[in-house]
Amino acid sequence: MYTEKRELLCSKCRKRVSYHIFKRPAKRIIKGVEIEYEEYYGICDECKSEIYVPGLDDKNEDNVEKLFRKKKNLITIPEIKVILEKYNIEKRPLSKLLGLGELTITRYIDGQLPSKKYSDLLFEVLNDEHKMKKLAEENRNLVSAVAFEKIMRAIDECEKEKKTDTSAERIALYVINSGKEITNLFLQKILYYIKVISELCLGKTMIPEPCEAWKYGPVFPKVYNKYKEFGKQEITINLSNDYIESLLSEEEKEITDLVLHTFGIYNAWFLKDLTHLEDPWRIARKGIDDNDASRNIMDDVVIMSYFLKMDQKYNLKSPEGIEKYICYMKKRMME
Ligand SMILES: [Zn+2]
Repeated sequence: MYTEKRELLCSKCRKRVSYHIFKRPAKRIIKGVEIEYEEYYGICDECKSEIYVPGLDDKNEDNVEKLFRKKKNLITIPEIKVILEKYNIEKRPLSKLLGLGELTITRYIDGQLPSKKYSDLLFEVLNDEHKMKKLAEENRNLVSAVAFEKIMRAIDECEKEKKTDTSAERIALYVINSGKEITNLFLQKILYYIKVISELCLGKTMIPEPCEAWKYGPVFPKVYNKYKEFGKQEITINLSNDYIESLLSEEEKEITDLVLHTFGIYNAWFLKDLTHLEDPWRIARKGIDDNDASRNIMDDVVIMSYFLKMDQKYNLKSPEGIEKYICYMKKRMME
């Protein structure tokens, strides 16, 4: 339920009235499939009868359609839009490369329901760049050279993103896909705390490879270099949600989410200051000025002996404990 400030004409009261919008469970049968959904409706504040609210029918229709597609396992319009973005391609050339009629994708975007067969084909190219590459190569004479080159470049990009030689690179994809604005500087700090917190929670770290004590805190060089081109900007990737979700176990997702919901609510510069205050970074940089570059390896034994101590004091395996630890470190920053 939410409040609408605007007024509408109530046919019973015969005047403009304020109203509220409510939700109620509803059922509808589409093409023999029963859809249960939450229907929005408006109620006049004065006579309490139902009132016509423009736009609400469309909203309900969209909702029913989305649920119907979900139930029939049919691709949705936003998912088709992801394909266009992912492969940097227009609707017509995509139709042609997939061996469909020239206007097929345009019609799907306008709301026409795809057949199961074509929907499955679209799911396939959404999730599998190799399938797209194969189709594009087979049908390259059907589209312009420019369109073909654009799509090939986009496929190369995806393949580069998928290449993960280290655990840090694999976990990084999930962090980047988390919906937060992730810069390279921020990503490095989050990976560092995932390395630590996973060891505490699971008894085995999710990121066994070592990190280096750079000027702005711990860094995983392979990950850093992979996303270097983004500079200080937000990192963006083209891989599908389903693919990225499949890279991590449920346990790994839980730990990553724990770190994102605790350390991850602070910005990269705060996290930099935090790591600068902690023993492992300081010890790895012994003798080096804070403003100087270094590629000294941070010793895993040193890292864990510090965090085991902090874990005993604060219980870093829980969100509350991590928050307490950060509060304590904040006070130390002010000293
Ligand atoms: Zn009324």
